Amino acid sequence: MTLRLPVFLLALLMFFAPLASADELEAQANELIKRALASSLSYELTESLTTEIGPRLAGSAAEARARAWAVRNFESLGFDKIHIETFDMKGWERGQISIQVGAPYTQPLMGTALGKSVGTPVGGITAPVVRFADYAALLAADDDALTGKIAFIDGGMVRTQDGSGYGAAGLRRRVGAYEAAKRGAIGLLIRSVGTSHHRNPHTGGTSYRKGTPPIPAAALSNPDADQLARLMVLKPDLSIHFTQTSRFIGTVQSGNVIAEIPGSEFPDEVVLIAAHLDSWDNSPGVQDDGVGVGIVMAAAKLIQDFGQPKRTIRVVLFGAEEVGLYGAFEYVRAHQAAGDFDQIMMVTESDFGAGRVWRMDTGISKNDEAKADRIQLVLAPLGVTKGKRTASGGSDVSALTRAGAPAISLVQNGWNYFDLHHTPDDTLDKIDRSDVAQNTAVYAAYTWMVANIEGGFHPPEK
Ligand SMILES: [Zn+2]
Repeated sequence: MTLRLPVFLLALLMFFAPLASADELEAQANELIKRALASSLSYELTESLTTEIGPRLAGSAAEARARAWAVRNFESLGFDKIHIETFDMKGWERGQISIQVGAPYTQPLMGTALGKSVGTPVGGITAPVVRFADYAALLAADDDALTGKIAFIDGGMVRTQDGSGYGAAGLRRRVGAYEAAKRGAIGLLIRSVGTSHHRNPHTGGTSYRKGTPPIPAAALSNPDADQLARLMVLKPDLSIHFTQTSRFIGTVQSGNVIAEIPGSEFPDEVVLIAAHLDSWDNSPGVQDDGVGVGIVMAAAKLIQDFGQPKRTIRVVLFGAEEVGLYGAFEYVRAHQAAGDFDQIMMVTESDFGAGRVWRMDTGISKNDEAKADRIQLVLAPLGVTKGKRTASGGSDVSALTRAGAPAISLVQNGWNYFDLHHTPDDTLDKIDRSDVAQNTAVYAAYTWMVANIEGGFHPPEK
């Protein structure tokens, strides 16, 4: 006994030595990482949402069921101030589509309506197709180059780890309909904005502008776009019969679901972590963005079980992101009107699939960079490197940063993201449990440190 006691004390000292020497906040964050890596809660929430609700189109009955799902789960996890902030929006439905190549190469092509596209007149349109190698080639065309024609905007998409190929490739989808209509086109087909080789077309929002007629717009799958390009070499004046019944359906309701862990010392300083609850209607929306919902809910729950943060942690599950960040803009509007928008001390959103977080970008005051570096060092063993200083927070959160909120982006590996993005293939079998746990660990440790770090964070200098 007399011999064993010093040995026991020595062991005890050795065990606590690293804890005592490291900063308390870092030690706490490391403990959260350990717990998150051992937890499957984020995966279970993702599975539950995407299985029980399935596709969750903005403004649909399914999106309303997803809000009820979120409230129910926030309640059972023991969150505070759970509520829904609803808003009205213009509803849209996809309808049916048929794209038929005319003689002598008569055959169908696989396509899908772009989100918020109008339909064709009843009976469809039949017109010659004009192909543009990419969006820039369309911009170079004359004002009346497409009178009475269907425009086909081809072009690739560069596969990248950080998703940077999406911005340029996405132009043909986002504003192609307007540029084609301006030149007289009566319909638009685009090559899918995606890196897949399967025959699932990638949907995604398009837009119109006042002064030009809204024209029906659809995406072809990548192999079908290849096929059309080959057919047009054989017959440059090839015509297509295009029928689409997508349409707007009047006013519908969407909403943001909000839950909190109240802060102990600075309850009016809010650390906001977000994801979006809606998805497109053509898949259960697992990587976009069911898994983001699972990650931020589980990270907050791990924190709640760990201890009360000094600042308030607010989880926001935005509605109607895919159709134009409606939920995020509504959040800014409502909270600016209420006078509490400036309580947001940091915003971060998980909306880039289930790949591992590998980089931390900041959009904060220069004076706070050392604090961000401190957090990044804790995340480094999880594979997170120091990134750019120009973070806008991505998707929904960009609406909040434009309104002045500081942001940090936890950038995920998106190498495979655009193989599945906005296609029927965005299903649960495509995500990896250990990758989801890594994301949750990053979010838990990061959010805890932001919510407790001395001095907090401030918006970037203008
Ligand atoms: Zn998304």
